[in-house]
Amino acid sequence: MPDLLWIKNGRVIDPASKRDAVGDVFAIDGKIVASLSGAQKKQARVIDAKGLVVAPGLVDIHVHFREPGQTHKENILTGSRAAAAGGFTTVVCMPNTSPVIDNAGTLQLVNAAASKAAVRVYPTACITTGMAGKQLAPHGTLKANGAVALTDDGLCIQSNELMRRAVEYAKMFDLCVLDHCQDDSLTEKAVMNEGTVSTRLGLKGWPHAAEDIIVARNIILSHYTDAHIHMQHISSAYSVELLRRAKKDGVRVTAEATPHHIALTDEALATYDTHFKMNPPLRTEADRQAIIAGLKDGTLDCIGTDHAPHSPDEKDREFDYAPNGIIGLETALAVTLDILVGEARFKLPSVIDLMTRRAANVLKLPAGTLSEGANADVCLFDPTEQWTYDATKGQSKSRNSPWHGKKLTGRVKTTIVGGKIVFADGAIV
Ligand SMILES: [Zn+2]
Repeated sequence: MPDLLWIKNGRVIDPASKRDAVGDVFAIDGKIVASLSGAQKKQARVIDAKGLVVAPGLVDIHVHFREPGQTHKENILTGSRAAAAGGFTTVVCMPNTSPVIDNAGTLQLVNAAASKAAVRVYPTACITTGMAGKQLAPHGTLKANGAVALTDDGLCIQSNELMRRAVEYAKMFDLCVLDHCQDDSLTEKAVMNEGTVSTRLGLKGWPHAAEDIIVARNIILSHYTDAHIHMQHISSAYSVELLRRAKKDGVRVTAEATPHHIALTDEALATYDTHFKMNPPLRTEADRQAIIAGLKDGTLDCIGTDHAPHSPDEKDREFDYAPNGIIGLETALAVTLDILVGEARFKLPSVIDLMTRRAANVLKLPAGTLSEGANADVCLFDPTEQWTYDATKGQSKSRNSPWHGKKLTGRVKTTIVGGKIVFADGAIV
């Protein structure tokens, strides 16, 4: 007997098919269909979504799952469960594992773990061998073994010549290069944004110019080679402006923003709390506003969490020595709704668009829509429910979240992957 699913009475929002109305979503054997027959409806598993938003499963093209090598922080299974709890059904994991993902063997290991994950996990692979920024990894082999994009995330290729060759080579295999934009010569020993707050706190600053220079470099190289370069976690107002002009000129660049860069500023570091230490760093209110404006006018393409698990003993130490990064999958939707809908007056469908179709489109992933024939990957959430986030009860193995103990609005109720419920009522199914 076919596997029949009927989600009824919810507010169905699917920006890809321009749908926003109370109605039903149907699936047969894991694929969305327009309707079920009367007889099929009698046999279907029914989910009553009254009062809930029924959206495509969320898509995050920037997560760190730490497998292989640092599975005490996270592994692909726990990371995928954190994703499911956050309403995500498709995620793209970064290759800065230990060893790094720069060869077919490691990709096969990751793919084997991904096949048992709670959601769809797509791997990326390194641009350079050993992520050392010296010589190109075998891009064709990496693509043949499932890499959906190339990145040395966490490290930025400093040589313009090597980056030029990398994007030309990646383009031959129709692969996008994801870049963490940072000129290392400007950020040596830096631990936070360079500005009045870093001066007051006596901490070494990371000037936004270090990001802007690489964003400009990448725009120039993309313009020159017509290769697709995606800028990860944009943090600076001037970078947003550079991207706006590049897109107007038709350059093949895309970019993402994180929930934390749209919600927080460097003022949060006043107590030296390492849960606000990330790379690129939290910046000023003007930068935060510029990123929100970039999301509004389409300069920035999507939201990416940069979910970066670290163990408490690593995070709980002197500010200078604590690692960068925070977890984010289980709070991303609520934080993004709070800022973009609650504060910046975005319409709900446009926020869902940033977290579904637009994210999937950057890497041409088969995800992000509830249109007929698509995978039945669905996120059901209550946009008004208030809840207090407890990181110690989360699905991630790590606890390093600045939102621990904070009240959030908007809660994921049910996550469905391929027509099967993977998360419901606060628990993995
Ligand atoms: Zn990252």
